[in-house]
Amino acid sequence: MKAAFLTAPRALELRDIPDAAVPKDGVVLDVKACGICGSDLRRWKEGPPPGVDGMIPGHEAAGIVVETGRDQSRFAVGDRIAIAPDVHCGHCYYCRRGLYNLCDGIRFIGVTPELSGALAERLVLTGEILAHGIVHRMPEGMSFAEGSLAEPSCSVLASHERAGTGLGDTVVVMGAGPIGCLHVIIAKARGAAVIVSEPSPVRRRLARQCGPDAIVDPTAEDLGACVRQMTAGVGADIVICANPIAETQTQAVQIVRKRGRVILFGGLPKANPLVTLDSNRIHYGEIEVVGAFSYHPTVHQRALDLIHRKVIRADLLVTHTFGLDEIGRAFEAAAAGEALKVVVTT
Ligand SMILES: [Zn+2]
Ligand SMILES: [Zn+2]
Repeated sequence: MKAAFLTAPRALELRDIPDAAVPKDGVVLDVKACGICGSDLRRWKEGPPPGVDGMIPGHEAAGIVVETGRDQSRFAVGDRIAIAPDVHCGHCYYCRRGLYNLCDGIRFIGVTPELSGALAERLVLTGEILAHGIVHRMPEGMSFAEGSLAEPSCSVLASHERAGTGLGDTVVVMGAGPIGCLHVIIAKARGAAVIVSEPSPVRRRLARQCGPDAIVDPTAEDLGACVRQMTAGVGADIVICANPIAETQTQAVQIVRKRGRVILFGGLPKANPLVTLDSNRIHYGEIEVVGAFSYHPTVHQRALDLIHRKVIRADLLVTHTFGLDEIGRAFEAAAAGEALKVVVTT
C-alpha cells in the first residue's frame, strides 16, 4: 500500500510498503478520507520525534472495513466507519472515573509514533484500538469527507458543553481557522450570539458563511469596543481562545464579563506556554478560566449525528481536497492559512 511518511521538518515522502496483516482481534480499514489537523501541521513543521526516522500522520479518518480478524465480531467487511485518534489505557485514575480524555497513558493514532496514522491507503485497527479507541459506524448516506469531519467537531462540541453555552449568551471566538469556524457553528446552534476575531481577510470571508453576528479584524478594529457595544457594556459571557496565540488569552480575560468563562481551547507552542492574565480581574470578577482538551468517546457518535443532520455542514468547512499523491501540496495548503479544512482522499 501507499503511505505518507513524515521524514523531516516539512518533508513528506510517499512510500510503497507491504500491507499489514489483519490482527485476529482487529480490522483493516480502506481509508477513503483523512482531514489534516492543526496538530498534524505542528508535527509537520517540527518533523518526527527524535529517534523516529519516519512516521505516518493523520487521525481524522473515515473509510470502509475490508478485512476482519476472526476473533472480533463488532464490524463486518463493507462497514463504513469513522475514527478519532485517542486510545486510552482503561485502568489509570482517570480512566476508572470515565475521564478517558485525561488518561495518564493516552496515546494517539497518527501522533504516537508506534500508532501509524491514516494518511495511507489502509489503516490497521487493532483489538486494543477497537476496545479503548474511538471507532463508530457512519450514518447511512454520509460521505467520507463528512465522516472525517466528526473528529475535529468533537472537541468543539465537548468544550461548549463544558462552557454551558446557551440561549442569549454572547460568545467571542478568537481565531477563525477550521476549529474557530466550528465554534461559530456550534455556538450559534446552541442559541448564542457570536463575535469572531480573526486577522486574516481570507479566513474572515470563510467564517462569514458560518453565520456569526459580528466579525472583527483585531489588527484594525477594537474587539473590546465591539464586545461592549453588543453586550450593553457588560462584556462577553464566554470567550473561546481557538488559536495558539498567548496574547489572545490575555485579551480574553479583559473582554469577558464578571462570572464569565474563558475557554483555553488552542494549545500554545510547547517551548513557550506561559501567559500573563490579569489575576485581579479573575479574582474580583469571579471569572472562570477553563481548559478544554479532547472529549469523551461518546461525543464522536454525537458529532456524526450532527453532521448527518447538517447542523455541522461539511460544505462550509472542507475548502480543499487533495489525493494522497499530492500530500505535500495538501500540507502546504493547510499551512498557508487560506484554507479551512483540508481533506486528503485515498
Ligand atoms: Zn484532529
Ligand atoms: Zn488511562
